Amino acid sequence: MNHKRFSEFGLSDEVLKALFDMGFEEPTPIQKIAVGPALKGRDLIGLAQTGTGKTAAFGIPIVEKGRRSKGKFPYAVVLAPTRELAVQVAQELNRIGRNKGVISVPIYGGQSIERQIKSLQKGVDAVVGTPGRVIDHIQRGTLNLGGISIVVLDEADEMLNMGFIDDIERILKETPKERQTMLFSATMPEEIVRIARKYMRDPERVFVDPKKLVVTKITQVFYEVREEDKIKALTRLLDVEDPSLTLVFCHTKREVDEVSGKLQQMGYSAGAIHGDFTQSFRDEMMEKFRKGETDILVATDVAARGLDIPDVSHVINYSIPQNPDGYIHRIGRTGRAGKSGIAITFVTPREYRQLRLIEKSAKTTIRKAKLPTKDEVKRAREKELMEDVEGVIAGNGHDFYVSLAEALLSRHEPKDVVAAALSLAAGGSDPEDIEESLGTGIPSGAGMVRLFLTLGKKDKIRVGDLVKSISAEANIPGRKIGKITLFDAFSFVEVPAHLADRVISALNDVVMHGRKIRVQPAEPVKKKKK
Ligand code: ADP
Ligand code: MG
Repeated sequence: MNHKRFSEFGLSDEVLKALFDMGFEEPTPIQKIAVGPALKGRDLIGLAQTGTGKTAAFGIPIVEKGRRSKGKFPYAVVLAPTRELAVQVAQELNRIGRNKGVISVPIYGGQSIERQIKSLQKGVDAVVGTPGRVIDHIQRGTLNLGGISIVVLDEADEMLNMGFIDDIERILKETPKERQTMLFSATMPEEIVRIARKYMRDPERVFVDPKKLVVTKITQVFYEVREEDKIKALTRLLDVEDPSLTLVFCHTKREVDEVSGKLQQMGYSAGAIHGDFTQSFRDEMMEKFRKGETDILVATDVAARGLDIPDVSHVINYSIPQNPDGYIHRIGRTGRAGKSGIAITFVTPREYRQLRLIEKSAKTTIRKAKLPTKDEVKRAREKELMEDVEGVIAGNGHDFYVSLAEALLSRHEPKDVVAAALSLAAGGSDPEDIEESLGTGIPSGAGMVRLFLTLGKKDKIRVGDLVKSISAEANIPGRKIGKITLFDAFSFVEVPAHLADRVISALNDVVMHGRKIRVQPAEPVKKKKK
């Protein structure tokens, strides 16, 4: 039976109130078909794209089955692929379980195990953990799964991709046979089907047609771009589309470093996450992105797995996903909970076949679109600048400069004064100069040039270290090295133009602080995006 409203599931007042407080007005499609059987204790396979509300689909039944008289051991265990996801799921369970007093705790690698042991000892109802850390606790004897009556495998396909399959089987074997097992996944690879056969009893299969979800809510387009033009294409789109929050996906950690670095350098508010960053750095980055302090997040697939970021308006596949499942996962980061979203994929001429393959298996259509022209970018930038200036006038934020304006106006033509001020505000860049200023090599003239290095504060490097390493590797005197600016993931180093090539070839691919670094000429500073 398909229920239309939460109240029709026969849920307790406590849970209904919690859902109401969370702003859940009606069940999502997967919740409509999954909550009923799950409440009855059926094993369940839920197949639905990300962002469709799977957490509550199993979270509501878990909370409803919460015991009032607390035992010492948890009765539910949810396995999730990443630490971020474990935290998110535990949060959602705690929100749903608030009025019922059902307590969920996330257990994941990277956090002090002692802290987790303490919270486990206090007594918890549901454990949400990454498979590796759950095994760790089982081995230490700090987590007893003997009292488990519900097991959930969340994002099962991702856990498989991350190599957790053996861990999952081990954990399943630790739990009582009479348990209820629920498996949620966006896709069903063979290995997951095998797990389901082996460990589930006559599971009810519920699924939401991905075609319906993807096509209606997410506008999908692709741009044909050559590899070397991608950054240019990206910034043009960012300028013209004016997204609220953008998630940019790259293949590799290095590509993430490069793309985020270049964007920052061009004045965009961009952050990066990938597996090489410390957990606390990733957390900080995510928080900034969530709050909108950073409006572009560049990530690898692994780092972005399962993240629920409410307002991503644009997902940009800077590199085409390696397979159709990857595509579905990535674009599922936008169009969350019924909102609309835009998914953009960059395709090099050689990748056309792969694009068609993705379209076919994801049963979707990805429309070809044309990149904004220079003119359109120019107009978009002008519009933004105009809005900024008018905003300052409207907000009376310019009192301070009025007498200076009068002084300038007494000496120059008004239009020259305004144009010069605008040029300053725009970061001194010539708005026409979009294509040419990118990807050019080192200027031939004398003076200093800036180099871009994929090594930064997070590698625990200091300015002094960098000077020493560069002068040693490139065999140039330290005093010839100019200004060094350290950022988290990368840095800029000024060197004399005539030595730039030498520094680049000496440092490229050299291992520093345990990491192979890349050096290249920095892009000229461009437009500031607020
Ligand atoms: P999935 O696990 O399918 O990727 P999530 O469970 O993370 O999706 O849900 C995506 C977002 O939708 C979350 O922010 C969640 O709080 C919200 N959500 C889930 N169910 C509902 C609902 N019934 N009404 C409104 N928002 C919902
Ligand atoms: Mg989920």
